[in-house]
Amino acid sequence: MHKDKLFLSIVAVAIVLVALAGITGKKPRVAETGPVPCLLPNIPLAQHLHAMLQIVINGVPATLPKDIGISASCEHALHTHDTTGTLHVEAQDTRAYTLGDFFEVWGKPLVTANFVSITVNGRPATGDPKKLVLEDKQQIVVSYKTPDKK
Ligand SMILES: [Zn+2]
Repeated sequence: MHKDKLFLSIVAVAIVLVALAGITGKKPRVAETGPVPCLLPNIPLAQHLHAMLQIVINGVPATLPKDIGISASCEHALHTHDTTGTLHVEAQDTRAYTLGDFFEVWGKPLVTANFVSITVNGRPATGDPKKLVLEDKQQIVVSYKTPDKK
C-alpha cells in the first residue's frame, strides 16, 4: 500500500516534469522562405541580432562590402552598415532569417562550384548552407577556392 502511493507520486512528478519541459522547451527556429522585406517606417523591430560573416578565398579573408541590402528606396531586414563583416538582422517580423537570405539580398550565389566549406563558431556546418539560420554573435566562415589554386 505504502509502496503503491510512493510509486504514484513518482509517476505524478514525472508527468509534471514532462509537461513543464514541453512548455518551456526552446523550439528550433524554422526559416520561412520568400523575399526579405524592406523595413517600414514607424513599426518597431521584432528582432535585432548580429552575426559575423567572414568570406575566405584561397585562404585569404575577403572584405565584406558595407551597405549590402541598403538602397535609397529600401533598407532590407538583412543588411551591413560597414566592412567589419557584421550582418544585421533587424526585422519587423519574428521569422528566422538564413545565410541564404543574406546572399539573396546581396545578389550573390552562396554555393558555387568554388565553394569549399562553411564553419559556424569554429565547427564545420552540415546541411544546406543556405538554410543556416542566423543567430546573435554567430561566427560564420565561408571558404571558396578558385580552380587554379590547389
Ligand atoms: Zn543592427
